[in-house]
Amino acid sequence: MTANAELVVDLDRYRANLAVLRSYAPDALQMAVVKANAYGHGMVPMARAARESVDWLGVATPAEALELRVAGDRGPLLCWLAVPGAPFAELVAAGVEVTASGVDQLEAIAAAGDRPRVQLKVDTGLSRNGAFGPQWDELVAAAARLQAAGSIEVTGIWSHFASADEPGHPANDQQEAVFRAAVDQLAAAGVEPGLRHLANSAAGLTRPSSHFDLVRWGIASYGIDPDPAVPAPGVTPVLTARTVLANVKRVPAGASVSYGWRWTADHETTLGLVPVGYGEGIHRTASNRAEVGFAGSRAPVRGTICMDQLVVDLGDRPARIGDPVTLFGSGDDGEPTAQDWADAAGTIAYEIVTRLAGRWSRTYR
Ligand code: PLP
Repeated sequence: MTANAELVVDLDRYRANLAVLRSYAPDALQMAVVKANAYGHGMVPMARAARESVDWLGVATPAEALELRVAGDRGPLLCWLAVPGAPFAELVAAGVEVTASGVDQLEAIAAAGDRPRVQLKVDTGLSRNGAFGPQWDELVAAAARLQAAGSIEVTGIWSHFASADEPGHPANDQQEAVFRAAVDQLAAAGVEPGLRHLANSAAGLTRPSSHFDLVRWGIASYGIDPDPAVPAPGVTPVLTARTVLANVKRVPAGASVSYGWRWTADHETTLGLVPVGYGEGIHRTASNRAEVGFAGSRAPVRGTICMDQLVVDLGDRPARIGDPVTLFGSGDDGEPTAQDWADAAGTIAYEIVTRLAGRWSRTYR
């Protein structure tokens, strides 16, 4: 390989995951969320594979939506995070459905084309994007006015959970109730709500009452549990991050490793040099904590993870430069998973895969 390290993406697994997830919400439309470079998996190839079976794609930014269109994607596509000055005209012309989270945004979208299709976002309690309280009342009124004037076509209303990965959290019931009321309010204002959607992966898996007309599948489609407490039975990780040993050395007891000498061997051992680091998006906070897969078992990371490289302790196992190393994958061959790295780095598996950046080559199969 040209690059020092490789991300291998198993598109058949992705397709299989999407099929499994459909079975959790068979009466709803399916959206594959491919924002943030498809959670590090590579947006365009994942989008192409998803289009074979799902009804919708979802992205956050206008740039992501337009990148998909430039790559030839033509299907239903929702974009939900635009800033003032966003290329609404281009998005509307490209058939992207844009989300309005406030009156100013709705008016900007309405002015951007001939009766653009727009979805309304209500903040049901996440306090992130979407219109909240009186802002929502104003957004409903503006949507009714603009729709009656023929300036927009409202095609959906949606929101996002704060704690879907904690199925017992009271926020879930509360948000769902607020969402239902918001749908009713829109209908009462004379606007047919169109697609109603609220569920992400965790809610798709655990909360059928939240499925409404569409489920937005992100993390579970990549084969990763939304949370260790919310498993996604039947899906398997799609991505394997792998490389080879760039150096191997036998060191005596007392040898210290990497910047700051934060690990010192207490017996003779074999160190392997793995040529990836935080320049590839590997979390430095996993220094001295994570493991990699080597020869069917695991080897611990020793010392500080550097920009381009990290060191693993291979003990007394035979090892040669060029031997394969798996940072994380499905776990089928004994290697760690993205969740294992998340535990080691003190973060969530979403961040482990989404941060993958920089100098990897990507192989799809
Ligand atoms: N919907 C929205 C609005 C999102 O921002 C995301 C991702 O954070 C998703 C759906 C997918 O969430 P998950 O990856 O938890 O399925």
